[in-house]
Amino acid sequence: MGIGRPIVSVSYGPVVQLVRTLPCHGRGRRFKSDLDRLKGGYMPYKDKAKQKAAQRAWYERNDALTKQRTKSRRNRRNQYKEEYKLANSVCPDCNISYPPHMLDFDHIVSNKVDTINKIVRNGTMKQLLEEIPKCEVVCSNCHRHRTYMRSLKM
Ligand SMILES: [Zn+2]
Repeated sequence: MGIGRPIVSVSYGPVVQLVRTLPCHGRGRRFKSDLDRLKGGYMPYKDKAKQKAAQRAWYERNDALTKQRTKSRRNRRNQYKEEYKLANSVCPDCNISYPPHMLDFDHIVSNKVDTINKIVRNGTMKQLLEEIPKCEVVCSNCHRHRTYMRSLKM
């Protein structure tokens, strides 16, 4: 029995102290170190109300991030659509060049999944890239005329 020092000599603060970090794929809680984790402490708040408030704050932050990502992906799809229209700005029916807002995507093949605008709003880039080649860019007047003529044939 020696008088020796303890084998492990560490000094740290409260062991259940958690460091809150940005949400990372659903795992909101991060421990300051492995030591903190081993010492336990999954209940960082003694006060239930404080815990609830912290959870709510976490979900609000996470919700904001999700919305932000959704928005930026939509912006990317919309930008692609606009650039595609700019590159195909001459209507093949009337041979006039139009700005993007006066051009439509006319589906010329039958396996239409959805309109381009709906895919830009709620779809994915993959869906957009698959759907655009099924269309021809025409001006809105010619698109209306094409749709009318098709309706007569049915
Ligand atoms: Zn036209």
